[in-house]
Amino acid sequence: MGPGLDFVDLPSLSAAVHQCRKCPLGHSRTRAVPGVGPSDARIMIVGEAPGQNEDLQGEPFVGAAGKLLDQLLRGIGLSRGDVFITNILKCRPPANRDPQPAEAEACSPYLEQQLRLIKPEVVLVLGRHALARLLPGYESISRLHGKVVVKDGVSYIPVYHPAAALYNSFLMGPLEQDFKAVKTHLDRVEERRQVAAALATPVTKPEEQLTLFG
Ligand code: SF4
Repeated sequence: MGPGLDFVDLPSLSAAVHQCRKCPLGHSRTRAVPGVGPSDARIMIVGEAPGQNEDLQGEPFVGAAGKLLDQLLRGIGLSRGDVFITNILKCRPPANRDPQPAEAEACSPYLEQQLRLIKPEVVLVLGRHALARLLPGYESISRLHGKVVVKDGVSYIPVYHPAAALYNSFLMGPLEQDFKAVKTHLDRVEERRQVAAALATPVTKPEEQLTLFG
């Protein structure tokens, strides 16, 4: 991304995505899908690309895969309002074909900027295309799913894409297990946060307690 294109916030980034024509998908899309969720989300979910429903509505994960994602989030005590959801590509590839490397390259600055602005503690990497973009050179999704990979201070957890599990029911069990691994990781992060907060709280000296309550 060139100088002067560092976005100050998510709304300005989204506005730029809606105007973007950096790759041919900008001309074939109905609506761009920059992503939705709170700007201070602790968890970011990154999928592959908008599908037909997303392209029509301008929101990520609104079809059957989105319903499954909601269900999986609910299963670990989360809702959509807790997470920021986006994709590697912000525009739909025609007929839902795989993202092409040049498209993913052209679109990557938006995702990099979203990661910089949101600063999530955990990034769920949905499927092999998101994995190839976010963790290049790592193992395949079939080997890495459900494991935590720490890169640049951020924990990435690759999981199978919900659409893949809808297509191949054998992946449903592993996907549910992956989300349990996500929950375990989030619980650990929360425990560490509480311990750090307790250690940072100044201990009141006995004489101060006497002054306060005596
Ligand atoms: S896919 Fe990304 S780079 Fe291509 S037009 Fe859409 S926003 Fe721009």
